[in-house]
Amino acid sequence: MASGHGRRRRDNLVPLAALINREIKSEKMEKPTVRYGHAGQSKKGEDYFLIKLDCQRVPGNPSSSFSAFAIFDGHNGNAAAVFTRENLLNHVLGAIPRGLGSEEWLQALPRALVSGFVKTDKEFQRRGETSGTTATFVIIDGWTVTVASVGDSRCILDTQGGAVSTLTVDHRLEENVDERERVTASGGEVGRLSIAGGAEIGPLRCWPGGLCLSRSIGDMDVGEFIVPIPHVKQVKLSNAGGRLVIASDGIWDALSSEMAAKSCRGLPAELAARQVVKEALRTRGLKDDTTCIVVDVIPPDSSLQPTTPPPKKQNRLKALFFRKKSCDSANKLSKRLSAVGIVEELFEEGSAILAERLGSDDCTAHSTSGLFTCAVCQVDLAPSEGISVHAGGIFSMSSKPWQGPFLCADCRNKKDAMEGKRPSGVKVA
Ligand SMILES: [Zn+2]
Repeated sequence: MASGHGRRRRDNLVPLAALINREIKSEKMEKPTVRYGHAGQSKKGEDYFLIKLDCQRVPGNPSSSFSAFAIFDGHNGNAAAVFTRENLLNHVLGAIPRGLGSEEWLQALPRALVSGFVKTDKEFQRRGETSGTTATFVIIDGWTVTVASVGDSRCILDTQGGAVSTLTVDHRLEENVDERERVTASGGEVGRLSIAGGAEIGPLRCWPGGLCLSRSIGDMDVGEFIVPIPHVKQVKLSNAGGRLVIASDGIWDALSSEMAAKSCRGLPAELAARQVVKEALRTRGLKDDTTCIVVDVIPPDSSLQPTTPPPKKQNRLKALFFRKKSCDSANKLSKRLSAVGIVEELFEEGSAILAERLGSDDCTAHSTSGLFTCAVCQVDLAPSEGISVHAGGIFSMSSKPWQGPFLCADCRNKKDAMEGKRPSGVKVA
């Protein structure tokens, strides 16, 4: 280490490097505060929600805590919404390998969300009850927000800078051309309701079943191309934090994302949720169940003015980063974006093809649970039982039938049905 004390230029940088290290360390230690509010008005009694603040990645370890928020907007009854509220979180967590560190856990989350949604759908359908539900499911771990969603209950992000972004995609046939094409290609028919005399009314629906959504959980009495595979988006907030507004379509049919965000700016979360519902009812009246959860992710030092970090410090940080650009690690990049108030996009995927969502297990370091567990329902498989998720896919060019992840026969059937390659395995009497 003696050589480190020369007259080299690097001497200048040492205090700055120390500063950065402190910054990174303090970021790791200090999690933001999460505050929330909920409000709703019921018309049909089919909106349900979940608020869970005390979840732990490592049971018994409070420093591994995260929180979960969700809205389930049921249709044709409330059974699917109730079932999903009870089971979805556990099914997602059950698909994450044990013993992961916090970064690895967050990386494993998008795939586990896909497994958890499909498993919940399968288990609900097995009960033989009709009804379906949207599911917009949000996990907040430190500064990282992960949103998985099917249907049209939206989650928006309002950052301190005033930008409003949508973290979900609306799975509505009327607006979503990609989904319309997917449903049609999988054997569904898309059209409006015809009334006597041949006039067509209402929004675009999918037949059989007549659902306006292209993705949902449950709905055994519609085609299997109405899939439970969620759009997933993961972002890392800047150290200014941000506000999430999660709400059912009762809100979004009345208010745009920007209107909802603006209507409650400056209010604490509890009042904000009420204000958004009030604003929606004022605009459109109570035509549907209307549910809203507002979640604020607040910097730990609330005395800090979040929008404007001290300019001097920021300049010093920038100076260092520009100098050290060549060895920018992901962590430093992240820190840099955070320092200038930019939300970092970590992951986004919305494909309805299961093989694309479960990926490949060729880098087995973080494979879900070894070779002999179904990647969807997590049941143990005998060595001869597992069927690769890549076997005989539509994209047979890239088929890797020997490669994991593997599915049990039941989940493989479900996969084929969702892709329109075989008739639905579930029939309603
Ligand atoms: Zn399975």
